Amino acid sequence: MARILITSGPTRQYLDPVRYLTNASSGKMGAALSRAAAERGHDVIVISGPVAIDYPEASDVVQVVSTEEMLAAAETRFPDCDGLIGAAAPCDYRPVRVSKEKMAKTGEPLKLELIETPDIVASLAGKRRPDQWVVGFALETNDHRFRAITKAERKQCDLMVLNRPEAMNADANQVEILRRDGRLLSQFSGSKADCAQEILHWIDLELIAGT
Ligand code: C5P
Repeated sequence: MARILITSGPTRQYLDPVRYLTNASSGKMGAALSRAAAERGHDVIVISGPVAIDYPEASDVVQVVSTEEMLAAAETRFPDCDGLIGAAAPCDYRPVRVSKEKMAKTGEPLKLELIETPDIVASLAGKRRPDQWVVGFALETNDHRFRAITKAERKQCDLMVLNRPEAMNADANQVEILRRDGRLLSQFSGSKADCAQEILHWIDLELIAGT
């Protein structure tokens, strides 16, 4: 049995009190993973951005809004965990300036200056203990497998789950599970619940069994 930290859902980066940048992540994959992990007897902590769905009762759920908050919550919880599954789609950019008041329309184009937010998976993987493992997700529109393996190396993930843009907010998914050395462990299509079972099967086999 392992203690698993799962990041899930989108994050929001506010421009002013009412407007924000985000993405189309629903948290459904993170919820399916947390259910599958709990069913296999693992302890699950979910750190989730704002989503409309529920996580199973077995989960300890930490709600966050921004990528920086997700990183801070993950850094606090990760030392007590055996592994991380980074299923969230954190907003990669934040505005350089955040207006305290609602920005009024001027009739002119609005120019936004954005800077990158920290990468949660890469930050945690870079500081992990040798006994901890990290699984990342990659959503690619081209050069799928090459980009996923490159990302696994760059973010120091033991496994990378490659999925397609069609997975966003959908109930089904098509996944490839890749090792950092490029070996393809599985190609699987099905409901997000079935994909989550498949992913947990490989995590158990490759990263948990024998520890
Ligand atoms: O680079 P990209 O966003 O495609 O990487 C996807 C992986 O990195 C996912 O596991 C996602 O949860 C994670 N990620 C992250 N923090 C970010 C951006 C992505 O943890 N700011």
